[in-house]
Amino acid sequence: ERKAALAASSGPGATSDGHKVPLLANVGGPADVPAAVEAGAEGVGLFRTEFLFLDDSKKAPSEEKQIESYRKVLEAFPEGRVVVRVLDAGADKPLDFLTPGDEPNPALGVRGLRSLLDHPDVLRTQLTALAKAAEGLPVYLEVMAPMVADRIDAKAFADACREAGLKAKFGAMVEIPSAALRARSILQEVEFLSLGTNDLAQYAFAADRQVGAVSRLQDPWQPALLDLIAMSADAAKAEGKSCGVCGEAASDPLLACVLTGLGVTSLSMGAASIPYVRATLAKYTLAQCERAAAAARAADSAEEARVAAQAVLSGE
Ligand code: PEP
Ligand code: MG
Repeated sequence: ERKAALAASSGPGATSDGHKVPLLANVGGPADVPAAVEAGAEGVGLFRTEFLFLDDSKKAPSEEKQIESYRKVLEAFPEGRVVVRVLDAGADKPLDFLTPGDEPNPALGVRGLRSLLDHPDVLRTQLTALAKAAEGLPVYLEVMAPMVADRIDAKAFADACREAGLKAKFGAMVEIPSAALRARSILQEVEFLSLGTNDLAQYAFAADRQVGAVSRLQDPWQPALLDLIAMSADAAKAEGKSCGVCGEAASDPLLACVLTGLGVTSLSMGAASIPYVRATLAKYTLAQCERAAAAARAADSAEEARVAAQAVLSGE
């Protein structure tokens, strides 16, 4: 039955009653593009550009090298959306030329957008390379910043994008609880939100994502995480803007239905998960997804949330 469902799975992501939820791919560079195209991704929801920077931790790749890599990804999705995340260095991805080596708590230190605002030349080169890479291509380029904490961060990023002459939508990742709590304020500066649920869980639960002993708290079904997601999606809806998910949460087919019910507008995941998420989403109406989301949020633990959502969707 599962095989048949997957074989029938193609086309754009949608609920059984036609509510569209674009299914996008997470990629680390051009090498990941064929699998994304093969899986029928409607675009890229998270292009993790740091892989290009990890080749040499002493200096940033040249503008030319960046243009070449970005263009290969942008070319693969004519008429599609490609959401590029600017460099997310620091914490679990340190770079010698950007990351202070003496931080007591690197995950709480200068990482993500913070390190780019401390090195405006690196951000400028990346944004200029993106602008040049997109020139003449029929792609909808969107650019987002990791680790946005508040409106000041969002404005600094939007200003840098405008200064670089980037013709793209600018967005903020919601990875820090403060950003979810004040999402409407952040949306005064940017045009979309993208939930990085891996970091959002890490920071909401004070549970290091690299420490196995606290993995219970990293479970994306945690009702508190669902609350933060709902808060962000509600804020985006109120502002008439979009709010996607690009963390691991989007790759769990059942949770993808719950996220849809919470009001998330697109789901981005590793290419291998796309057919499963597409097939599961196509089985339920938006109203069912909304009921599953409400049941999950009413639970007191990740496990109860999972069971409650499953019960609603299987009609128990
Ligand atoms: C996230 O934090 O959920 C995310 C998508 O970014 P990364 O996993 O690259 O930190
Ligand atoms: Mg992250």
